Amino acid sequence: MKFVKTVNAPETPWSRAFFLLFNEKGHLLVEKKNDTCVGLPCFDNAFAKDLTLRQENFLGFCDSTPCYCAGLNDGNLPGQYQWHNLRALFPQMEPEFWEVIGYAKQINDCHANNKFCGKCGKKTEQETNEHARTCHQCNLTFYPRISPAIITAVVKEDTLLLARGINFPNKKMFSVLAGFVEPQERLEDCVKREVFEETGIKVKNVSYFDSQPWPFPDSLMVGFTAEYEGGRLSIDPKEIAEAGWFTADRLPLVPGKPTLSGELIHWFVKTQKKKD
Ligand SMILES: [Zn+2]
Repeated sequence: MKFVKTVNAPETPWSRAFFLLFNEKGHLLVEKKNDTCVGLPCFDNAFAKDLTLRQENFLGFCDSTPCYCAGLNDGNLPGQYQWHNLRALFPQMEPEFWEVIGYAKQINDCHANNKFCGKCGKKTEQETNEHARTCHQCNLTFYPRISPAIITAVVKEDTLLLARGINFPNKKMFSVLAGFVEPQERLEDCVKREVFEETGIKVKNVSYFDSQPWPFPDSLMVGFTAEYEGGRLSIDPKEIAEAGWFTADRLPLVPGKPTLSGELIHWFVKTQKKKD
């Protein structure tokens, strides 16, 4: 399936369209195909007209099928449709579906969270040529919010720095360090600051690795690798429950590959195998 973004809605009436619908909790409506498989709801015109949608927005086309996002109250929906936690859905969905789901989530959030101007409090109006809302009183435009965050694999000889955040739902899970970029901060400086603040470790040779949109709720994860420069492990207990240096053959429980953290850990394991 190929997703093509456009704000130009189809001019001719459509018979079926994909609907990415979110409830007040931010859960996504999915269609249950069988016990293990869910898909995106594709409604015919009559069914879609009967739904009371909030802030319907055209997103583009999945192959040639139109694609919309909107808010929908929990209500009486046919049994094959169910609300699904977005984060829990992430590992189950093919990346091509995830592209449209993440986009829909952030466009829907932009309209749901900016109904009023943050400066003067007046109602904002939806732009027609881009996904944004404008307050004409203040001439302020509100775009989908994207919060950049860094994530970094710090390597010291044959070991990788992994930490368990105090908020990790799984108390056995470790991951590479991550943190939000501050105003007026270079990404590379953010890597150095976050690693030092959370673990007391200084790093050098910070290199770009890859990036990943992370719509929980609005991050863009920017991945880096870095080398140990100095310092001893001293964790910030407000952020980190425990941290340590791990060799590739003795890793704790870590995230899987669909996540950028999983990709970075996989990269570390691969580079260590090459050395053997
Ligand atoms: Zn205003």
